[in-house]
Amino acid sequence: MIDLHAHTTSSDGTATVPELLQLAVDTGLSTVAITDHDTVAGCLLAEPPAGLDFIPGVELSAEHVGTCHLLGYHVDPHHRCWDDTGAKLRGWRDERNVQIIEKLQAMGLPIDLESVQTLAGDAVIGRPHMARVLLERGAVESVKDAFDRYFAAGGPAYVARRRLSPVDSIALIHEAGGAAVLAHPYQLRLDDDALAATVADLVRDGLDGVEVYYSQHTTEQVEFYGSLADQHRLLRTCGSDYHGTAKPGLELGDLGPIRPADDAILGPLRAAAERYQ
Ligand code: AMP
Ligand code: ZN
Ligand code: FE
Ligand code: FE
Repeated sequence: MIDLHAHTTSSDGTATVPELLQLAVDTGLSTVAITDHDTVAGCLLAEPPAGLDFIPGVELSAEHVGTCHLLGYHVDPHHRCWDDTGAKLRGWRDERNVQIIEKLQAMGLPIDLESVQTLAGDAVIGRPHMARVLLERGAVESVKDAFDRYFAAGGPAYVARRRLSPVDSIALIHEAGGAAVLAHPYQLRLDDDALAATVADLVRDGLDGVEVYYSQHTTEQVEFYGSLADQHRLLRTCGSDYHGTAKPGLELGDLGPIRPADDAILGPLRAAAERYQ
């Protein structure tokens, strides 16, 4: 059993890196990847226990009308690109976070930047941290409720953030020695034909794989995304997108309706990343 998509307290998950690795062992995983938003800081802290293989990863948000997340696998967390380009991405988040909080305050909601920073600690701050502050203060019923009412695209506290283009996101992952994989394709919010065209574009940009197996995918989605992967000779990867209590009900190791054979995923993923090392 493996899970290649998990967040920690280095971004918007609620498990620390040691807690996540221990949970992986307790869940019976043989391999786990940490894929925090816009940072590899958690990967630098990872000391996997004997018997657990650890893959350093990252999840970048690329420019797109929908949600275009690109996962990087076997990236070198010590690579200097995470200090310069990575810091730029985090700076774009900081700019947006201030604007979101201004909007929330203008609506009379009980939130300020300092409380969000205190809750987030060293994490790369995202909307889920703001949602948790609102939850603690009784202004929303859940993180999901906060997204539904305020944070989702088109919502009253939504602010677009500067992001790298898909081609630059893929190039950053390759520069760090990793393979680049399109995460949870349905979140692009495209119909099948438009998604097929977008995947073809991403392949021209250097895409190496597709997250075919995912906790929220239906059987039909797994089959369609798998066919797109095969059509372009791309890797297939699998992941839950575990966020701890930030996404209640989503367990580490939940790969959705179809569970792939571990060996079919791990060997090709390592071989693809080695081409950039
Ligand atoms: P941000 O990093 O600020 O762009 O926030 C994006 C993150 O918020 C995603 O990676 C998810 O973890 C989380 N998220 C997005 N939509 C929702 C939702 N409807 N409910 C709960 N969490 C969400
Ligand atoms: Zn997240
Ligand atoms: Fe994502
Ligand atoms: Fe994720």
